[in-house]
Amino acid sequence: MTGRFANIIVDISHEKVDRPFQYRIPDALVGKLEVGMAVMIPFGLGNKRIRGYVMEITDRNDYDEDKLKMVDSIVEGGVSAQGDSLRLAWWIRENYGSTMIAALKTVLPVKKKVKPVVRKTIVRKTDSATAKMKAQEFESKHQVAKARLMQELSVQPALPQSLVTGKLNVTTQTIQALEKAGLVEIHTEDAYRSALPGNLTVSGVKKPLSENQRRIVDSIAADFAEGIRQTYLIHGVTGSGKTEVYMGLIEQIIAQGRQAIMLIPEIALTYQTLVRFYQRFGERVSVMNSRLSLGERSDQYERAARGDIDIMIGPRSALFAPFERLGLVIMDEEHEGSYKSESMPKYHAREVAGALCHMKDASLVLGSATPSIESYYRAKKGEIKMFTLHERLAGGQLPKVYVEDLRSELKNGNRSVFSRRLYSLIEDRLKKHEQTMLFINRRGYAGFVSCRACGHVMKCPHCDVSLSEHTDRYQRVSRLICHYCGYEMPRVTACPKCGSKYILGFRAGTQQIEELLHREFPAARVLRMDADTTKSKDSYGQILSQFADGEADILVGTQMIVKGHDFAKVTLVGILAADMSLHAGDYRAGERTFQLLTQAAGRAGRGVLPGEVVIQTYQPQHYAVVYAASQDYEGFYREEISYRDLMGYPPVAHMMAVLVLADDEQTGAARTKELAGQAKELSCGSRAVIIGPTEALIGKINDIFRFVFYVKHREYKVLTGIKDTLEHTIYLKQWPADSVQFDFDPMNHY
Ligand code: ADP
Ligand code: ZN
Ligand code: ZN
Repeated sequence: MTGRFANIIVDISHEKVDRPFQYRIPDALVGKLEVGMAVMIPFGLGNKRIRGYVMEITDRNDYDEDKLKMVDSIVEGGVSAQGDSLRLAWWIRENYGSTMIAALKTVLPVKKKVKPVVRKTIVRKTDSATAKMKAQEFESKHQVAKARLMQELSVQPALPQSLVTGKLNVTTQTIQALEKAGLVEIHTEDAYRSALPGNLTVSGVKKPLSENQRRIVDSIAADFAEGIRQTYLIHGVTGSGKTEVYMGLIEQIIAQGRQAIMLIPEIALTYQTLVRFYQRFGERVSVMNSRLSLGERSDQYERAARGDIDIMIGPRSALFAPFERLGLVIMDEEHEGSYKSESMPKYHAREVAGALCHMKDASLVLGSATPSIESYYRAKKGEIKMFTLHERLAGGQLPKVYVEDLRSELKNGNRSVFSRRLYSLIEDRLKKHEQTMLFINRRGYAGFVSCRACGHVMKCPHCDVSLSEHTDRYQRVSRLICHYCGYEMPRVTACPKCGSKYILGFRAGTQQIEELLHREFPAARVLRMDADTTKSKDSYGQILSQFADGEADILVGTQMIVKGHDFAKVTLVGILAADMSLHAGDYRAGERTFQLLTQAAGRAGRGVLPGEVVIQTYQPQHYAVVYAASQDYEGFYREEISYRDLMGYPPVAHMMAVLVLADDEQTGAARTKELAGQAKELSCGSRAVIIGPTEALIGKINDIFRFVFYVKHREYKVLTGIKDTLEHTIYLKQWPADSVQFDFDPMNHY
């Protein structure tokens, strides 16, 4: 790194992360100073020597050169853990665009002093066998909550109260009743704030790995021993034994004196999964999740920094556990959209994990049943080493899948949301007292317009993504718009392909489905799970455990219900409108649909009873539907990558969204035009493609106007180069730093 000036941040261990100060680099240190290094600098009026960290090395001096002070010296002992965090923040800033402060806040935990919390633990007063007997007794009396707690306590002698009232959904009154009956005791202790599920016994028991599992663990461990660091992808259906492989790898890493980060999407971070890790690794495990208070998070990070733990489990933010000896990062369900940050900096945890592993000399292991197109593409190119696990170890056959053509339903006079097959299968399950899950993907909803008679979907002639309806102020549909390029056309009244007048926007919601079920099957007990019914903190777990306890026949929900729990009694899964996610209006619509359908289908028949799946769609011939129905990932990938290649979409090329926000419409439009114009100028030499600018899908949120344009190019570096220039413009014009947002290879459209 060359440059004559260093931007240095001081005193980062204090609560407030301040702005960087610029210093001159003495000739003796030019070329030696690196970002992330600790240096001594004169600071303040008395020029006291204090420690600082180099944030940036540049040739651009923002102040009068003569007035700048000089860096004193490099602090010996190299780059510290904090230095690593700085380097990572720097990397994030460079690759995703944001202020350094925002990047730092992402990487460094906020320090906060909090008073210690009291931890309560529920301890059984009987032996395991008695607890089990009591559980059965309660079960027969239909006291499911008591039964659940006693059952759990028959396996574990003690459980933290937070877990019992949370995940297990047992009320405090119920616990007190059991205490009165002399079955349990409530222990109170002043505890170190911890996310551990209490005093689990560490059994250390491990399943002997299958030959395939063994081969993966051995091969990655052998690479590690030889000093080879790279990215690995484990492609294996749910239940194929990936988690056992992860644990095997973590064990090897710890034996080498190194530490591991295990990333799991929040929604899949179930109690059962955590218990498996605690039982295997005990107290040296820590968990991060969004329910933790700032103080609790800060504690977890501190334990990591002190080396008190070896394993950090958690969603995206667990990646920033400041491990000194990090050797392994594992990312389960690596295709999950929640690994991408939705606020600035809009980083993808998979890529940041790659950068982190590179800095720390660690290995990165990705796992998924439906790998992201990005990772599979890299595996095909040989940049990622891939392993496959084919068979389900836990038993349970793959379900039988029916694809129901909603066009022919209409032709036959059925205008209901339920195809005839789905209707009769629901009836059948109600009769047999087996459970049904009905699934509708609201998130993908973008108001696409399709023909109910022939399935034709209105698409943008330039971008090959679906057009969306826009309504005027009287809620009348006025025009169809492309979210990428802004192409628009008047609304259509007849299908351009078959002439049918049944061409309209697609609308359906979980609430309507629930109402319809009540009308069609009055005796059925129905639970609904969507953004509305899961607003409160524990409602998500409550609905799932109610369903698991057999308190309902049918669970209707959004994509939330696809993850996590296994329900042994679910033998029917209905996907009501696969088209909802197929035509979300962005280039990832096909990929998301395939993942969703594959996962939803995997929910049926997880127990001993065989399962059936009904996929309803107007486009039964769409490749995402066809390959999901036959559980053929490879086939899907081939079609999808050729579409991405043809249209220049990621991962074959890269795409940067530039979102401009302003309180005032004119200002926003003018700034967008100016930035887009500049991007266009810069792109001439590099042949980048500019799409837009246009008003964003939601043109105004909280009185802030939103505009967007996209830049596409094969080289990521070209896009970050354009980003740098735009950032400089924003800086020179003194526009508010957060008024322009960058999103690389976006997961959604704006
Ligand atoms: P995944 O993470 O791919 O969903 P898991 O590791 O959770 O798969 O394994 C699925 C089930 O199979 C679990 O119940 C697990 O205990 C069991 N299992 C995994 N590996 C083995 C093995 N080698 N021998 C026996 N059972 C295993
Ligand atoms: Zn038509
Ligand atoms: Zn377009």
